[in-house]
Amino acid sequence: MNVPFLDLGRLNAPYKAEFLGVASKLFDDGTFIGGGLVSQFEREFAEYCGTEHCVGVGNGLDAITLALKALGIAPGDEVIVPAQTFVATWLAVTHVGAVNVPVDVEPRTANLDPDLIEAAITPRTKAIIVVHLYGATADMARINEIAKRHGLYVIEDAAQAHGDIRFDRKVGTFGDIATFSFYPSKNLGAVGDAGCVVTNSSALAQRVRELGNYGSSVKYRHDSIGFNSRLDPIQAGFLSLKIKDLDRIIEKRRAIAARYDKAIGNADESAPVFRLLDFGLQSVWHNYVIVCRDRDTVQRQLTEAGVGVGIHYPTIPTEQTCYADMQHYSRATPVAHRLSQSVLSLPMGEYLSDAEVNHVCDALRKLA
Ligand SMILES: *Cc1c(COP(=O)(O)O)cnc(C)c1O
Repeated sequence: MNVPFLDLGRLNAPYKAEFLGVASKLFDDGTFIGGGLVSQFEREFAEYCGTEHCVGVGNGLDAITLALKALGIAPGDEVIVPAQTFVATWLAVTHVGAVNVPVDVEPRTANLDPDLIEAAITPRTKAIIVVHLYGATADMARINEIAKRHGLYVIEDAAQAHGDIRFDRKVGTFGDIATFSFYPSKNLGAVGDAGCVVTNSSALAQRVRELGNYGSSVKYRHDSIGFNSRLDPIQAGFLSLKIKDLDRIIEKRRAIAARYDKAIGNADESAPVFRLLDFGLQSVWHNYVIVCRDRDTVQRQLTEAGVGVGIHYPTIPTEQTCYADMQHYSRATPVAHRLSQSVLSLPMGEYLSDAEVNHVCDALRKLA
């Protein structure tokens, strides 16, 4: 049996017929930018997150960039970012002209390590971007406390964590503003590029909406140097179908993760592989990540057993060519570097059959 790492065709197949109906109505209606489909999904997603506002944008990278702009982050400002994340988090900071200041991550969550944040704060620090990596909410109680004490904005990059709950609160409600991606592989994925911000501040929501619409809120009046980054109605229409299932999707992913947990057992650093996330911590399992003593061997064994795997992410931002000027930082974030050399992601998706999950579990039990 072969279990591919991800099969987006199968993932979205249940929505095809209904979606074609929505697309057909869009043609009859003729509103191809903005309109009712977009405002409906914005209302639904704000309600799902428990925030006052949701503003649809073109993708997750734009969501972070526009959030930073709306907060007034500008050249000369420093923004604290996790040393390991998808590079988009960092690119947004660079695009507004600010400086990424990497802080190392916790070894058992791969999320921003609250113990290390204060040492990175300078008089130029304006904000912290927290990434809820792989679907597990970061330690927002401590991070928010630090941010408050130092007068810093908090931006949640929640691209991987739609719907996760920690400290009895949903992702997207912890910071000043939160950003989401609906890239097809995310837990709430569209059928193309899409993203949004959520916030309880009407001023911030209004600024993001204006910035994503050529800096304009009244036609042909341009108050700021804007972008064109809006949520497509076709994507909004698809997301409105899927969001009804999001809680069920999360439950299914948690059930699969629980079976992987059993196959791996209470393994620790001495075993061939162990679960990245501390037991007891929840996640919406955008990725189920294991840490390998010898990743090349584990990757070969799983691949030979027909189990597709991914690596999120093999290179930390400071070791990327585009951030060559920041290479000196990479030695300062040893946990992020070590994880980039040892993590492996297992197949994860609500469409996986019992037989497929069993197949992955069998392959995990055979690792030596
Ligand atoms: C996917 C992702 C993004 C970027 O989203 P896009 O919609 O692909 O631009 C940003 N941050 C994180 C953590 C992501 O996983």
